[in-house]
Amino acid sequence: MNHSLPPIGSTVLGYPRIGPERELKRANESYWAGRIGQDELEATARKLRARTWTELATAGLDSVPGNTFSYYDQMLDTAVLFGAVPRRFHGLSELDTYFAMARGRDGVRPLELTKWFDTNYHYLVPELAPDTTFILAGDKPVSEYREATELGIATRPVLVGPLTFLLLAKSAAGAAAGFTPLDLLDPLLDAYAELLARLADAGVAWVQLDEPAFVADRSGAELAALGRAYDRLGALSHRPGLLVAGYFGDFGEALPVLAQSPVEAVAVDLVAGSAAAIPVVTALRDKTVVAGVVDGRNVWRTDLKAAASTCASLLGSVGSLAVSTSCSLLHVPYDLDAETKLPSALRERLAFARQKVAEVVLLGQALSAGSSAVTARITAASETVRAGRAAEPRNDHVRGRIAALRPQHRRRVPYAARAAAQRDRLALPPLATTTIGSFPQTTDVRRARADLRAGRIDEATYTDRMRAEIRRIIALQEDIGLDVLVHGEPERNDMVQYFAEQLEGFATTEHGWVQSYGSRCVRPPILHGDVARTEPMTLDWITYAQSLTGKPVKGMLTGPVTILAWSFVRDDQPLALTADQVALALRDEVRDLEAAGIRIVQVDEPALRELLPPRAEDRKSYVDWATGAFRLATGGAAASTQLHTHLCYSEFGDVIEAIDGLDADVTTIEAARSHMEVLADLRAIGFARGVGPGVYDIHSPRVPDVAELAELLSASAAAVAPDRLWANPDCGLKTRGYPEIEPALRNTVAAVREVRARL
Ligand code: GLN
Ligand code: ZN
Repeated sequence: MNHSLPPIGSTVLGYPRIGPERELKRANESYWAGRIGQDELEATARKLRARTWTELATAGLDSVPGNTFSYYDQMLDTAVLFGAVPRRFHGLSELDTYFAMARGRDGVRPLELTKWFDTNYHYLVPELAPDTTFILAGDKPVSEYREATELGIATRPVLVGPLTFLLLAKSAAGAAAGFTPLDLLDPLLDAYAELLARLADAGVAWVQLDEPAFVADRSGAELAALGRAYDRLGALSHRPGLLVAGYFGDFGEALPVLAQSPVEAVAVDLVAGSAAAIPVVTALRDKTVVAGVVDGRNVWRTDLKAAASTCASLLGSVGSLAVSTSCSLLHVPYDLDAETKLPSALRERLAFARQKVAEVVLLGQALSAGSSAVTARITAASETVRAGRAAEPRNDHVRGRIAALRPQHRRRVPYAARAAAQRDRLALPPLATTTIGSFPQTTDVRRARADLRAGRIDEATYTDRMRAEIRRIIALQEDIGLDVLVHGEPERNDMVQYFAEQLEGFATTEHGWVQSYGSRCVRPPILHGDVARTEPMTLDWITYAQSLTGKPVKGMLTGPVTILAWSFVRDDQPLALTADQVALALRDEVRDLEAAGIRIVQVDEPALRELLPPRAEDRKSYVDWATGAFRLATGGAAASTQLHTHLCYSEFGDVIEAIDGLDADVTTIEAARSHMEVLADLRAIGFARGVGPGVYDIHSPRVPDVAELAELLSASAAAVAPDRLWANPDCGLKTRGYPEIEPALRNTVAAVREVRARL
């Protein structure tokens, strides 16, 4: 291996790739629709890559990451690179195979999509089986390296590390019992070894291997596998320098393992994790440590003075120190300069990807040369950040309410008493039917929202159109025969943004897009100040809907944890406090809904599991504040008001106690795909409140028939008493069309009638 490695100096672990104007999204979607050919798509991709490398090199980074581009997802890239393409995708061109794995194709189901650690990015889950053979099937990292050298830029190719790749993969359906993807480590390492040799041939000095799977708890066997893998890759005679990166938390026990391996450099997340372990691991004294001090997943400017002093404190404990972002900048928008409408005081406090690169460069200069000019810039920047934070207006009313909170604010009367009061007031039949909230968003509805935003229609016209939609949705539900109705959420662009736009303390961006998966991007609101509700947020729509029917209409709110999870949150106070502020705003909304005669309120928490910390030791405190915030939002409701919540998953695993801790009267969840298994999990923990296991899988266009729905419902009725059991779809109907949901809901009602008759 090359013994004269250039210093890493300053770098970032990765960069956004969707394009500052979402060029890749448009190009991908045009290619999928057949409007452009492969050549044009590739030309767009090349342009985006060149632009990124040039921007990063020009900004002054010492080491520019490469291979951070992806048409869809880096886990998918890795699977394809090493030939892990399940048989059902064979027979298409290379690019079309790739997209088929991501999106499916006539009757061929795609790879599963799931959350990338605790972020809102989703990756495609590789499917591996005992007979999966890894070969170096592609050369993307090498060819992109060459592409960059043509521009005079020597990049550091970024790869998903072999352990993280296997630990995030799943066993293919039908794989032998006892098989786990980790069994394939040795053949996978052969393929990595070949890739490393090719990269060395091409002249690559450093590669980055991402191993974020090791910031979560790992077994002894997994840690041993990590050591074995990097001993082996490190021992290769012909390879680039190896930088192993962990992010979204602390490497923990994996840090000494890596330090004792022959890898030359380790990147650590000093934003989500801490620097405390570094001096303790003496083997780091002859490694390069890449200090991730600039937050890669939030939008705040860095307190550069604090970051520089963290770096300085490590100098004596490591062989060589480099400075970086805590993780890839994939999770933040491109460029703050594109935001012209943000209040200037807030803008002063923000840094998007491009601004964070400049911060890293400055810190790198401070570390290497430390001229007085650099020190002065760092000091000035820190002062701006600190002054900006201090100048953020405080809402003393909200702070006073928080200070006055007592345990009883988070407590309702015991469930048995609530259930009795609700039975009397609602008089619902056993196996009551409902939906999760949203109805399909028609083009007319979307157009009306866009027209209002663009000023083409006035507020009154907009309200008329939304009301017409609500009338239609209520009439449809009555006709179908559902018991508990919803207004359908036509006025909501997004379940978090809708509330963020109305709450004080939030700002929304114009161009702050972040890739969520593939071509899908989201624009997370920025929660920057004390949160307060200035006026009711949902009341008019819900009471209008309720005025149209005698059946109960559910008030529909997004819960505090989900609002936080899908926003950029302030980092100057504990999340628990921010969550309580959001909860108070929701609590006031619940009170207003109740006062207007609304008998059922649903508070959605689909992101409850998402924020669960990677390490078990941190989970209790998370669950405490998360459920505490939910109970603060809902704890003011009268016993006779029925509180629903909705969660978007069926495998509760580590959050099952949290679900109990929400103390909702009714919890609706996903279940159709796992054949109601979730009911047994709930029973195991003694969960004894209302539950609505989704019987209709809305993630598929398929319409379930009456017999299969009745079968699922009977299975459920055997596990849960019928007066606590609900029949509902898996999730909101927003992404489906009326031709699917209408028969599916009619079939659900018919199946419920059958099952009721047999009770
Ligand atoms: N009430 C929301 C809806 O129906 C819930 C969405 C979600 O769970 N993600 O759309
Ligand atoms: Zn859902």
